[in-house]
Amino acid sequence: MPANEEGEPADPRATASRPPSFTVFLFDYDDTLFPTSAHDNVEEAVREGTMTDEEGRARLAKCAASALRLLERCVLRGQIIICSNGDRSWLAESLDGEAYQELRQFLKARAIPVLSARQHATLQGLIEYDSGVWKRSCFGEILASLRQQGVAPSHALSIGDAEHDLSALERNKEYLQHGGIMTKVQLKDQPTADDLAVQHSVLTTCLDELLEDDQTDNYEMAFEREKGEDGAFVGVSLTAIEDPNMKDPET
Ligand SMILES: [Mg+2]
Repeated sequence: MPANEEGEPADPRATASRPPSFTVFLFDYDDTLFPTSAHDNVEEAVREGTMTDEEGRARLAKCAASALRLLERCVLRGQIIICSNGDRSWLAESLDGEAYQELRQFLKARAIPVLSARQHATLQGLIEYDSGVWKRSCFGEILASLRQQGVAPSHALSIGDAEHDLSALERNKEYLQHGGIMTKVQLKDQPTADDLAVQHSVLTTCLDELLEDDQTDNYEMAFEREKGEDGAFVGVSLTAIEDPNMKDPET
């Protein structure tokens, strides 16, 4: 048995009782890493001739680059798991597009899983339920599996544009280490490609701050625009929210 500095045998329980810290990032995909709403609008604009093909591709490429920078930072600090309510064919198809090639290669090289909660729900017989149930069930499976492997997270972060991205983590907190920390970040609903890219940049900048959190916190992206409906974008910040709206879907 190894001895401590005083020459006495070290008590193995002292190390065993303190589990190592382990961070997991649970990322949503649509309108979180990939600008799904914007993609649909861009396709329509290109079809109608109000946007060139080149402009459309440039918008997606900007988002892909900002998402990649964010994931590159996250992977240095913990395990990334992408969990989407989209179906597998959509996930494969969207990642296979020209703009997302580099990000796709990055995910592959780092063996970052891209999971379909929809497919998981089908296998679990839950497909008839609300899509929030799919996400909750898939988060449960992911976190339970990590726990079983002896790597229950000490810090879990859920980042997504839907209320259920927050509640899915909240409802599965039992799988975290005792006293584990949850950080939930709700992104803007139906963002433009520019909105999404700027949110990626804000998250990249604030990542260290989020990881230093020593208590469970919830955040949302606050968009500041000039006055008027079509006011120009002024700035975006990550704002703590006391009481997030995250009603859990019924099963
Ligand atoms: Mg989403």
